[in-house]
Amino acid sequence: MAYTWEPKWEPFEVNVDGIVIKTCRDRYTGLIACPICIHAVSSCLGGNPPENYQFENSYFFTVDDLISHLKTYHVRGWHRRIESVASKSSEEED
Ligand SMILES: [Zn+2]
Repeated sequence: MAYTWEPKWEPFEVNVDGIVIKTCRDRYTGLIACPICIHAVSSCLGGNPPENYQFENSYFFTVDDLISHLKTYHVRGWHRRIESVASKSSEEED
């Protein structure tokens, strides 16, 4: 017996400390998807999927868990990229 889960995404707006994030939430389970991992724009917000997008499955029971994921998983990655670009440009200046 196989168990599969086919999410029925609906638009969901997260508003934390004045920061609004538009993402998708499963109608049945209430699970909130990471808007970056599942590419919310094309998954439930009516946009087109980009070419060569690395889709990942990241779902959360609470808004706090989603925020924590965004901070640790995505923002940390951006910081690393910004730092590497900054160090490259400072090397070029030397
Ligand atoms: Zn994510």
